[in-house]
Amino acid sequence: MQGLSIAIVGAGIGGLTAALSFARQGHSVTLIERRPGFSEVGAGLQLSPNASRILIGLGLAPALRRVATAPDRVVVRGISSGRPIGGVALGAYMQQRYGAPYWVVHRADLQTILLDAVRSEASIRIVTGRKVEQVRNAPDHAHIVWTSSNGSQESITADVVIGADGIWSKVRQAIGDTAPPRFHGYVAWRATVERRLVPQELDGNETGLWLGARGHVVHYPILSGNLVNVVAIEKAREPVEGWSAPGRAEDLLVHYRSAAPALRELLGMPREWLRWSLFRHPIKRLAQGRIALLGDAAHPVLPFLAQGAALAIEDAATLAALFKGDGQDVAQALAAYERHRLERVTRIQAEGRRNGRIYHSGALVAFGRDKIMQWIGPESMSNRYDWIYGFRTPE
Ligand SMILES: Cc1cc2nc3c(=O)[nH]c(=O)nc-3n(C[C@H](O)[C@H](O)[C@H](O)COP(=O)(O)OP(=O)(O)OC[C@H]3O[C@@H](n4cnc5c(N)ncnc54)[C@H](O)[C@@H]3O)c2cc1C
Repeated sequence: MQGLSIAIVGAGIGGLTAALSFARQGHSVTLIERRPGFSEVGAGLQLSPNASRILIGLGLAPALRRVATAPDRVVVRGISSGRPIGGVALGAYMQQRYGAPYWVVHRADLQTILLDAVRSEASIRIVTGRKVEQVRNAPDHAHIVWTSSNGSQESITADVVIGADGIWSKVRQAIGDTAPPRFHGYVAWRATVERRLVPQELDGNETGLWLGARGHVVHYPILSGNLVNVVAIEKAREPVEGWSAPGRAEDLLVHYRSAAPALRELLGMPREWLRWSLFRHPIKRLAQGRIALLGDAAHPVLPFLAQGAALAIEDAATLAALFKGDGQDVAQALAAYERHRLERVTRIQAEGRRNGRIYHSGALVAFGRDKIMQWIGPESMSNRYDWIYGFRTPE
């Protein structure tokens, strides 16, 4: 099945990884992106071993090592008490157990590295400033209509169309899933702080995770360890629009008024906070005819398990692997993709929701949670997720 034409809608982390993976299998790729260019948007992303292994396999290790950080551990603390509750072993432990690192990166760094690799492939054509409006299956091809920034419409055909167009996916509608994602009742705030300014007790090479009934906070070093990425989750009645709605530090500090002093100091530091809302969407299908979905388009996940980018990368690598070699047709390969992925991504979506309930539990349950975490210990806390971190792309 070599030499197919593959159209990928959306050049986020999932779309870029898919473009690279398909090109390396000998297919020609058209990568279509709505934004006019690749500006630096977003902040930290976590790349657990299931994802870093794939990126390393694509030859991106040298570039990633220059920008990624590998925290030694997660330190879990109570939001109000500030006391350590438990930990999760990362760093050398993960590298040794799974044969790949647990990295944290700036989203813009990862995007730039993937984009550089994509641009160096002659068989990938990138078209930006084109918003895909419609995708349709036909018996022996799929059909895409897009609008350019000047308002004109164009259409192309491809052997396969991949929807990597994020949570508000247009392509998802083409496989019969027209329901919009539902607001999950939380807004995430993100900001970065210069590492040298961070309170000393929070400055280790570690991920900090602070748990409380009304939300939680995560922070870790990014940009080769020079910045600290901070994400604070807030219960909210209404969603905000997009990935970068401005937020006022005063409002966040009111929400976290009873937080421990070191955390309040950290939350008070950033000059700019940006917010996005957390949505959920049950998975119905991953493919139909000649159209497939990946990443947030297929299965948005809550960020409580840090698997959003990792799953998009896994999807992309799996899909491309199923288009390797001869002997299968498109329909068979896409059916195999759905078989390989549906159960796993559904389970990870559910695990993320469960983590949210555990993170935000009330005093009584939190007491039991903290005891269990102390009893289990950091290494066993990591081992619980062997089924996530030990993932291998099908041969
Ligand atoms: C601007 C932005 C900022 C983000 N910031 C963070 C962050 O700080 N922290 C975090 O944890 N996660 C962030 N995310 C989400 C994170 O990147 C994803 O959850 C994860 O990487 C899965 O990526 P994806 O490729 O499936 O989807 P996305 O990263 O959402 O990428 C989808 C791509 O498709 C494009 N697209 C959408 N509709 C169309 C269309 N009709 N035609 C053509 N192109 C289209 C979008 O412009 C985008 O480039 C951000 C996503 C975006 C788009």
